[in-house]
Amino acid sequence: MLRKFLPLLLLAACASPEADKSANNPTSGPVIVIHGGAGSISRGSLSEADELAYQTSLTAAVDSGYMWLEQGVAAEEVVARVIEMMESDSLFNSGVGAVVTAEGIAELDASIMRGSDRNAGAVSGLRHVEHPIRLAKMVMDSSKHVMLSTKGAEEYAFSMGMDSVPNSMFITNKRAQQYHRAIQDKHGTVGVVVMDAEGNLAAGTSTGGMMMKEYGRVGDSPIIGAGTYADNAGCAVSCTGHGEYFIRNHVAGQLSLRVQNGEDLESAANDIIFEVLNRQEGAGGLIAIDHMGNVAMPFNTNGMFRGMRNSDTSFVAMYEE
Ligand code: ASP
Repeated sequence: MLRKFLPLLLLAACASPEADKSANNPTSGPVIVIHGGAGSISRGSLSEADELAYQTSLTAAVDSGYMWLEQGVAAEEVVARVIEMMESDSLFNSGVGAVVTAEGIAELDASIMRGSDRNAGAVSGLRHVEHPIRLAKMVMDSSKHVMLSTKGAEEYAFSMGMDSVPNSMFITNKRAQQYHRAIQDKHGTVGVVVMDAEGNLAAGTSTGGMMMKEYGRVGDSPIIGAGTYADNAGCAVSCTGHGEYFIRNHVAGQLSLRVQNGEDLESAANDIIFEVLNRQEGAGGLIAIDHMGNVAMPFNTNGMFRGMRNSDTSFVAMYEE
């Protein structure tokens, strides 16, 4: 299926929009890049009102994150704050508005990584924690582990003073209708990568996973090296798309290592999305920032909700330009 579109996709990659081009000028100040999921987001598939809603939400997330970065807030804290905003926003498939499992409940995954020391935290299968990304950060900062799952993760959250929330708070009318009509809507995962005022990188990802996922399924988003990775020596990466392919190709870790080994960020990111993933018909995209402030945001789907801001550029976009 994807192979059919490959020439078009490659063309789109070469003819990237004005804003995407200027995003690749290295900058010394802070940089933020966000995504709100990749998938079949084509022109005409969204109403004008929905387009505006996505633009407004993406702009608010980018601008808030940039403001915190300018104020000197540390990279990983900015990642957590911006993702919390998106988890509370029902437009996205994370927190409120998450897709539901085959059993009709929300099960949330998130991860975060700091590039200065490669410390990381991840959580999966949460049903009662309002902000999975905050718990992932708590696991990174305050536990001796990197990843906690299901009941153990929730017990840890409550022991650390987080409240238990009902699962129904995550399930919006739209997701309930999709469930009843068995619609395999896949997009809406959120991710943030930043370079802070000190030049440190961080990355985070939060998701409800794939619509109708089987009991116990874990995607790439909470897996360090698959959906999320950050290393000051390489780059910060957050992925979105069909998670199984991102796990099998250790996409986020692979990109950081390739950049560390001297490859140009944009070429390595394009190669992973348009060559490695396309060969397996794995659909999705990623956002990344390297230590120079270069940015990449390739996707092989129709669209990806995305946005970025640095000292020269600020934009949000959703379609192939
Ligand atoms: N990557 C996520 C997962 O597989 C879903 C997505 O990004 O849309 O769980």
